[in-house]
Amino acid sequence: MNATGIAYILWLPPLGLLGVHRFYCGRVGTGLLWLFTGGLVGLGWLIDMFLIPSMVREENARVISRLREQGPLGLMPANHGSAGPPPQPGSLQYDHRVIYCVRCGAAMQVPLEAVGRQYGCPHCRAVLVVPA
Ligand SMILES: [Zn+2]
Repeated sequence: MNATGIAYILWLPPLGLLGVHRFYCGRVGTGLLWLFTGGLVGLGWLIDMFLIPSMVREENARVISRLREQGPLGLMPANHGSAGPPPQPGSLQYDHRVIYCVRCGAAMQVPLEAVGRQYGCPHCRAVLVVPA
């Protein structure tokens, strides 16, 4: 089942009238609107029958571009994926992030103040931009 097929299943009543297919397509704002208005009293819901393919396409493109932006640097919070307690203020994990050098692959911790700025890799001296 591809994403468009799933979106159409979620579009069927009663879920679709509550905007579930819109949430699925990443449209939280109009999803909430659908939720509280019954899909604009059914009218918006009906029109969505024709809009779902483009909504799925746009959401896929958004996800892909987000992955492209974040992928090369591998930026993630230092505590990403750990099941331990949340980092405490003052600890290294709290105010630092782990990024990976695009060129040499070295992992390094950068201070949060470096977000949005350029950061030199201490290993290969590549200049990395730390994304937000
Ligand atoms: Zn490097």
